[in-house]
Amino acid sequence: MVTETRPAGRSPALTTADSIVYFDGTFMPLRDATVTVATHALHYGTGVFEGIRGYWDDGDDELYVLRLAEHVDRFFRSCAILRIHLPFDRDEMAGLILEVLRRNNYRSDVYIRPIAFKSSQTIKLTLSTLDDGVAIYAFPFGHYAHRDGGLRVCLSPWRRIDDNAIPNRAKVTGSYVNASLASDDAHRGGYDEAIMLGSDGSLAEASSSNIFLVRHGRQVTPTVSENILEGITRDAVLTLAREQLGLEIEERAVSRSELYVADEVFLTGTGVQIEPVTSIDDLPVGSGEPGPIAARLATVYADAVRNKLPAYASWCTPTYAAG
Ligand code: PMP
Repeated sequence: MVTETRPAGRSPALTTADSIVYFDGTFMPLRDATVTVATHALHYGTGVFEGIRGYWDDGDDELYVLRLAEHVDRFFRSCAILRIHLPFDRDEMAGLILEVLRRNNYRSDVYIRPIAFKSSQTIKLTLSTLDDGVAIYAFPFGHYAHRDGGLRVCLSPWRRIDDNAIPNRAKVTGSYVNASLASDDAHRGGYDEAIMLGSDGSLAEASSSNIFLVRHGRQVTPTVSENILEGITRDAVLTLAREQLGLEIEERAVSRSELYVADEVFLTGTGVQIEPVTSIDDLPVGSGEPGPIAARLATVYADAVRNKLPAYASWCTPTYAAG
């Protein structure tokens, strides 16, 4: 008899019931911020979200929200694609995010999750005529995916959703079925992450992060037309690579086999930050050790996000000084 194997550890809840969230115009405890089972978005994945990090700095006694304006802007663009109308403008939303953090008095690294969704209680397949709901919550957060010595990843048999199926530029809740299948299979196979190819077989991204290769000292990453999310960390890493490391960058279509001959591979994302990949399908990447370029980028990134590099001070919005 074949038995279904279920990983032993269930994913723990990251929020506590009494943490304060913003929900449809007011602040309330998380336990009260609920929707009904008839909600359109629950049935059809008709929501959009953001993932934002805040970095606590002991020396400054401050919680810096990383690239807040860029995340808010992408949220608005995602909403436009799903025809969601928000009850606030970009500046007001940035203010609400900071207010959620202040009301919880977070003094640690945090992850912030804004979500907007079709809230009507209907089974009709439509978007424009439906009501919209919106919430913002946050929770203390450390590593998303990390392994000392680098991540062990696999190439997923699941293909990355095509932009003509669900727009990749939007962070649509429903599209994360694709990412979750890839990621769950990878975890069940003992890997840390899944790398996904597009339907044409070229490299796209990992389940929730963008991918970079180092080849002949140049940094290579799929272009934004390769069915990827336009990652904000991807943009930060491109900037830091050019400005701080003086690297040449190639944004282009990347073939699968380039992964096998790359000197380095690493992932970038709000959650994952910058994590080296040291094996793909159990084959070593480069030397099989975390590479020097990823390490240097991770060091400057760690300084930039805690407002230690004046050139990138505009990336860091203080939570408490602004209050
Ligand atoms: N791709 C996907 C599918 C993601 O969900 C994420 C995480 N938002 C990323 C890439 C990385 O994007 P960012 O750097 O903006 O977090």
